[in-house]
Amino acid sequence: MAWLSQPILRFAPSPNGRLHLGHAYSALFTRRWAERMGGIFLLRIEDIDTARCKPEFTEAIFKDLNWLGLHWPEPAWRQSTRFDAYRSAADDLRKRNLLYPCFCTRAEIAGAAARTDPDGAPFYPGTCRNIGAAEATRRMGAGEPVQWRLNMDAATELAGPLAISEMHPDNGAIGERPADPARWGDVVLVRKDTPTSYHLSVVIDDSAQAISHVTRGRDLYAATDVHRLLQALFGLHSPVYCHHDLIADEDAAKLSKSRGSPTLADMREAGWTADAVRARLGFGPPS
Ligand code: GLU
Repeated sequence: MAWLSQPILRFAPSPNGRLHLGHAYSALFTRRWAERMGGIFLLRIEDIDTARCKPEFTEAIFKDLNWLGLHWPEPAWRQSTRFDAYRSAADDLRKRNLLYPCFCTRAEIAGAAARTDPDGAPFYPGTCRNIGAAEATRRMGAGEPVQWRLNMDAATELAGPLAISEMHPDNGAIGERPADPARWGDVVLVRKDTPTSYHLSVVIDDSAQAISHVTRGRDLYAATDVHRLLQALFGLHSPVYCHHDLIADEDAAKLSKSRGSPTLADMREAGWTADAVRARLGFGPPS
Protein backbone atom coordinates (compact mmCIF):
# COMPACT_ATOMS: atom_id res chain seq x y z
CA MET A 1 0.00 0.00 0.00
CA ALA A 2 1.29 3.49 -0.80
CA TRP A 3 0.83 6.35 1.66
CA LEU A 4 1.57 10.03 1.17
CA SER A 5 3.45 10.21 4.45
CA GLN A 6 4.71 7.49 6.73
CA PRO A 7 1.88 5.83 8.64
CA ILE A 8 2.13 6.09 12.42
CA LEU A 9 0.29 3.59 14.62
CA ARG A 10 0.17 3.21 18.35
CA PHE A 11 -0.58 0.71 21.08
CA ALA A 12 -1.93 2.62 24.09
CA PRO A 13 -2.37 0.49 27.22
CA SER A 14 -3.38 1.80 30.64
CA PRO A 15 -0.97 0.64 33.36
CA ASN A 16 -3.63 -0.29 35.91
CA GLY A 17 -2.79 -3.98 35.93
CA ARG A 18 -0.69 -6.57 34.15
CA LEU A 19 -1.14 -7.22 30.43
CA HIS A 20 -3.03 -10.32 29.34
CA LEU A 21 -3.54 -12.07 26.00
CA GLY A 22 -6.04 -9.48 24.79
CA HIS A 23 -3.44 -6.73 25.13
CA ALA A 24 -0.82 -8.90 23.43
CA TYR A 25 -3.19 -9.40 20.50
CA SER A 26 -3.86 -5.67 20.20
CA ALA A 27 -0.15 -4.80 20.35
CA LEU A 28 0.83 -7.48 17.80
CA PHE A 29 -2.09 -6.50 15.56
CA THR A 30 -0.91 -2.87 15.61
CA ARG A 31 2.69 -3.83 14.89
CA ARG A 32 1.58 -6.08 12.02
CA TRP A 33 -0.36 -3.26 10.38
CA ALA A 34 2.54 -0.85 10.94
CA GLU A 35 4.84 -3.33 9.16
CA ARG A 36 2.42 -3.96 6.30
CA MET A 37 2.16 -0.22 5.68
CA GLY A 38 5.85 0.52 6.15
CA GLY A 39 4.88 2.61 9.17
CA ILE A 40 6.02 3.30 12.71
CA PHE A 41 4.80 1.46 15.82
CA LEU A 42 4.53 3.71 18.89
CA LEU A 43 3.79 2.81 22.49
CA ARG A 44 1.81 5.31 24.57
CA ILE A 45 1.22 4.82 28.28
CA GLU A 46 -2.30 6.01 29.18
CA ASP A 47 -1.81 6.74 32.86
CA ILE A 48 -4.22 9.64 33.49
CA ASP A 49 -5.80 7.76 36.40
CA THR A 50 -3.08 8.50 38.90
CA ALA A 51 -4.78 6.48 41.65
CA ARG A 52 -5.10 3.20 39.72
CA CYS A 53 -2.08 3.44 37.41
CA LYS A 54 1.20 2.35 38.99
CA PRO A 55 4.80 2.84 37.80
CA GLU A 56 5.46 -0.88 38.34
CA PHE A 57 2.68 -1.72 35.87
CA THR A 58 4.28 0.61 33.32
CA GLU A 59 7.63 -1.16 33.79
CA ALA A 60 5.85 -4.50 33.42
CA ILE A 61 4.28 -3.33 30.13
CA PHE A 62 7.75 -2.53 28.76
CA LYS A 63 9.00 -5.94 29.85
CA ASP A 64 6.02 -7.93 28.51
CA LEU A 65 6.06 -6.16 25.14
CA ASN A 66 9.83 -6.56 24.73
CA TRP A 67 9.40 -10.25 25.59
CA LEU A 68 6.86 -10.50 22.75
CA GLY A 69 9.47 -9.01 20.41
CA LEU A 70 7.96 -5.51 20.25
CA HIS A 71 10.07 -2.34 20.19
CA TRP A 72 9.20 1.32 19.74
CA PRO A 73 10.95 4.67 19.52
CA GLU A 74 11.98 5.70 23.04
CA PRO A 75 10.80 7.29 25.18
CA ALA A 76 7.21 6.11 25.07
CA TRP A 77 4.83 9.00 25.76
CA ARG A 78 3.21 8.98 29.18
CA GLN A 79 -0.07 10.81 29.46
CA SER A 80 0.63 11.70 33.09
CA THR A 81 3.27 14.14 31.76
CA ARG A 82 0.76 15.85 29.46
CA PHE A 83 -1.91 17.23 31.78
CA ASP A 84 -1.13 20.82 30.66
CA ALA A 85 -2.05 19.97 27.07
CA TYR A 86 -5.34 18.41 28.20
CA ARG A 87 -6.07 21.39 30.49
CA SER A 88 -5.66 23.86 27.67
CA ALA A 89 -7.86 21.76 25.36
CA ALA A 90 -10.58 21.72 28.04
CA ASP A 91 -10.17 25.49 28.53
CA ASP A 92 -10.70 25.99 24.83
CA LEU A 93 -14.05 24.16 24.97
CA ARG A 94 -15.00 25.93 28.20
CA LYS A 95 -14.43 29.34 26.59
CA ARG A 96 -16.73 28.31 23.79
CA ASN A 97 -19.46 27.31 26.28
CA LEU A 98 -19.26 23.70 25.20
CA LEU A 99 -18.39 22.38 28.68
CA TYR A 100 -20.43 22.74 31.83
CA PRO A 101 -19.67 21.83 35.44
CA CYS A 102 -21.47 18.81 36.89
CA PHE A 103 -21.61 17.95 40.59
CA CYS A 104 -23.66 14.76 40.35
CA THR A 105 -22.43 11.64 42.10
CA ARG A 106 -22.49 8.21 40.46
CA ALA A 107 -25.41 7.20 42.68
CA GLU A 108 -27.40 10.30 41.72
CA ILE A 109 -26.84 9.65 38.03
CA ALA A 110 -27.75 5.96 38.37
CA GLY A 111 -30.95 7.01 40.17
CA ALA A 112 -31.92 9.61 37.58
CA ALA A 113 -30.96 7.83 34.33
CA ALA A 114 -33.78 6.47 32.19
CA ARG A 115 -31.53 4.61 29.73
CA THR A 116 -27.95 3.51 29.17
CA ASP A 117 -25.12 4.69 26.94
CA PRO A 118 -23.38 2.38 24.39
CA ASP A 119 -21.15 1.02 27.19
CA GLY A 120 -24.19 0.10 29.26
CA ALA A 121 -23.53 2.87 31.80
CA PRO A 122 -26.35 5.16 32.98
CA PHE A 123 -27.06 7.83 30.36
CA TYR A 124 -26.57 11.22 31.99
CA PRO A 125 -29.94 13.01 31.99
CA GLY A 126 -28.44 16.52 31.97
CA THR A 127 -29.22 17.40 35.59
CA CYS A 128 -26.51 20.09 35.90
CA ARG A 129 -26.76 21.45 32.35
CA ASN A 130 -28.72 24.56 33.34
CA ILE A 131 -27.41 25.01 36.82
CA GLY A 132 -26.38 28.67 36.33
CA ALA A 133 -23.00 30.34 36.73
CA ALA A 134 -23.67 31.74 40.22
CA GLU A 135 -24.63 28.41 41.74
CA ALA A 136 -21.79 26.59 39.97
CA THR A 137 -19.26 29.13 41.28
CA ARG A 138 -20.67 28.85 44.79
CA ARG A 139 -20.51 25.05 44.81
CA MET A 140 -17.00 24.98 43.36
CA GLY A 141 -15.98 27.61 45.91
CA ALA A 142 -17.35 25.38 48.65
CA GLY A 143 -15.03 22.64 47.41
CA GLU A 144 -17.64 20.30 45.94
CA PRO A 145 -16.00 17.83 43.55
CA VAL A 146 -16.73 18.89 39.99
CA GLN A 147 -16.50 17.19 36.63
CA TRP A 148 -16.92 18.93 33.29
CA ARG A 149 -19.29 17.59 30.67
CA LEU A 150 -19.61 18.27 26.97
CA ASN A 151 -22.90 19.91 26.01
CA MET A 152 -23.65 17.28 23.38
CA ASP A 153 -26.55 19.09 21.71
CA ALA A 154 -24.51 22.27 21.28
CA ALA A 155 -21.42 20.34 20.15
CA THR A 156 -23.19 18.20 17.55
CA GLU A 157 -25.03 21.20 16.20
CA LEU A 158 -21.78 23.09 15.82
CA ALA A 159 -19.95 20.17 14.19
CA GLY A 160 -22.74 19.04 11.83
CA PRO A 161 -22.80 15.52 10.33
CA LEU A 162 -19.50 13.64 10.67
CA ALA A 163 -18.07 10.50 9.11
CA ILE A 164 -15.47 8.09 10.46
CA SER A 165 -12.97 6.33 8.17
CA GLU A 166 -13.05 2.70 9.26
CA MET A 167 -10.50 0.14 8.07
CA HIS A 168 -11.32 -3.56 7.84
CA PRO A 169 -9.11 -5.40 10.36
CA ASP A 170 -8.26 -8.26 7.93
CA ASN A 171 -8.06 -6.83 4.42
CA GLY A 172 -7.41 -3.15 5.14
CA ALA A 173 -10.33 -1.94 3.00
CA ILE A 174 -11.37 1.52 4.12
CA GLY A 175 -14.99 2.66 4.22
CA GLU A 176 -16.89 5.50 5.82
CA ARG A 177 -19.51 5.26 8.52
CA PRO A 178 -21.53 8.06 10.08
CA ALA A 179 -20.52 9.14 13.59
CA ASP A 180 -23.35 9.20 16.12
CA PRO A 181 -21.87 10.85 19.23
CA ALA A 182 -25.30 11.93 20.52
CA ARG A 183 -25.96 8.37 21.74
CA TRP A 184 -23.37 9.05 24.46
CA GLY A 185 -25.11 12.12 25.84
CA ASP A 186 -23.15 14.77 27.75
CA VAL A 187 -19.90 12.81 28.21
CA VAL A 188 -17.44 13.74 30.95
CA LEU A 189 -14.33 15.35 29.43
CA VAL A 190 -12.71 16.45 32.70
CA ARG A 191 -13.10 13.98 35.54
CA LYS A 192 -13.38 14.76 39.23
CA ASP A 193 -10.16 12.94 40.08
CA THR A 194 -7.90 13.93 37.18
CA PRO A 195 -7.76 17.01 34.94
CA THR A 196 -8.82 15.11 31.81
CA SER A 197 -10.66 11.98 30.66
CA TYR A 198 -9.97 9.09 28.32
CA HIS A 199 -11.90 10.74 25.46
CA LEU A 200 -10.12 14.07 25.74
CA SER A 201 -6.57 12.82 26.19
CA VAL A 202 -6.77 10.14 23.50
CA VAL A 203 -7.93 12.67 20.91
CA ILE A 204 -5.33 15.27 21.88
CA ASP A 205 -2.49 12.73 21.84
CA ASP A 206 -3.50 10.89 18.67
CA SER A 207 -3.31 14.27 16.99
CA ALA A 208 -0.13 15.44 18.75
CA GLN A 209 1.62 12.20 17.76
CA ALA A 210 0.26 12.43 14.18
CA ILE A 211 -1.29 8.97 14.46
CA SER A 212 -2.54 8.02 11.00
CA HIS A 213 -4.27 4.74 11.95
CA VAL A 214 -5.84 4.04 15.33
CA THR A 215 -5.90 0.26 15.84
CA ARG A 216 -7.72 -1.03 18.91
CA GLY A 217 -10.36 -3.48 20.10
CA ARG A 218 -14.01 -3.47 19.12
CA ASP A 219 -14.92 -2.49 22.67
CA LEU A 220 -13.93 1.07 21.67
CA TYR A 221 -15.87 1.11 18.37
CA ALA A 222 -18.70 3.31 19.68
CA ALA A 223 -16.32 5.60 21.62
CA THR A 224 -14.87 6.61 18.26
CA ASP A 225 -18.05 8.63 17.66
CA VAL A 226 -17.07 10.92 20.55
CA HIS A 227 -13.46 11.10 19.34
CA ARG A 228 -14.58 12.11 15.86
CA LEU A 229 -16.75 14.88 17.33
CA LEU A 230 -13.89 16.22 19.47
CA GLN A 231 -11.60 16.26 16.43
CA ALA A 232 -14.17 18.36 14.60
CA LEU A 233 -14.52 20.77 17.55
CA PHE A 234 -10.74 21.20 17.82
CA GLY A 235 -10.23 21.35 14.04
CA LEU A 236 -8.01 18.26 14.09
CA HIS A 237 -7.37 15.77 11.32
CA SER A 238 -9.20 12.48 11.90
CA PRO A 239 -7.13 9.29 11.60
CA VAL A 240 -8.34 6.05 10.03
CA TYR A 241 -9.82 3.74 12.68
CA CYS A 242 -9.50 -0.02 12.76
CA HIS A 243 -11.27 -2.05 15.45
CA HIS A 244 -10.23 -5.66 15.84
CA ASP A 245 -12.22 -8.49 17.41
CA LEU A 246 -11.56 -9.17 21.06
CA ILE A 247 -9.66 -12.27 21.99
CA ALA A 248 -11.97 -14.74 23.67
CA ASP A 249 -11.16 -16.87 26.66
CA GLU A 250 -11.87 -20.62 26.62
CA ASP A 251 -15.41 -19.82 27.75
CA ALA A 252 -15.69 -17.12 25.06
CA ALA A 253 -15.95 -14.32 27.62
CA LYS A 254 -13.93 -11.17 27.01
CA LEU A 255 -10.53 -11.38 28.64
CA SER A 256 -10.28 -8.90 31.40
CA LYS A 257 -8.24 -8.18 34.45
CA SER A 258 -11.34 -8.18 36.62
CA ARG A 259 -12.20 -11.74 35.62
CA GLY A 260 -8.76 -12.87 36.70
CA SER A 261 -7.67 -14.12 33.26
CA PRO A 262 -4.03 -15.23 33.22
CA THR A 263 -1.58 -12.42 32.58
CA LEU A 264 1.33 -12.69 30.18
CA ALA A 265 3.57 -12.93 33.25
CA ASP A 266 1.51 -15.88 34.53
CA MET A 267 1.81 -17.57 31.14
CA ARG A 268 5.57 -16.96 31.04
CA GLU A 269 5.93 -18.51 34.49
CA ALA A 270 3.81 -21.45 33.41
CA GLY A 271 6.37 -22.13 30.66
CA TRP A 272 4.84 -20.39 27.64
CA THR A 273 7.46 -19.04 25.24
CA ALA A 274 6.91 -15.76 23.40
CA ASP A 275 6.78 -17.75 20.12
CA ALA A 276 4.00 -19.92 21.52
CA VAL A 277 2.01 -16.91 22.72
CA ARG A 278 2.36 -15.22 19.35
CA ALA A 279 1.35 -18.43 17.56
CA ARG A 280 -1.68 -18.87 19.86
CA LEU A 281 -2.77 -15.39 18.72
CA GLY A 282 -2.10 -16.06 15.04
CA PHE A 283 1.18 -14.19 14.68
CA GLY A 284 4.53 -15.48 13.47
CA PRO A 285 7.97 -14.78 14.92
CA PRO A 286 9.14 -11.14 15.12
CA SER A 287 10.74 -9.90 11.91
N1 GLU B 1 -5.94 3.03 27.04
C1 GLU B 1 -7.06 2.35 26.47
C2 GLU B 1 -7.19 0.97 27.06
O1 GLU B 1 -6.23 0.47 27.62
C3 GLU B 1 -6.95 2.17 24.96
C4 GLU B 1 -7.07 3.46 24.27
C5 GLU B 1 -7.12 3.40 22.75
O2 GLU B 1 -6.52 2.51 22.13
O3 GLU B 1 -7.72 4.29 22.19
O4 GLU B 1 -8.24 0.39 26.97
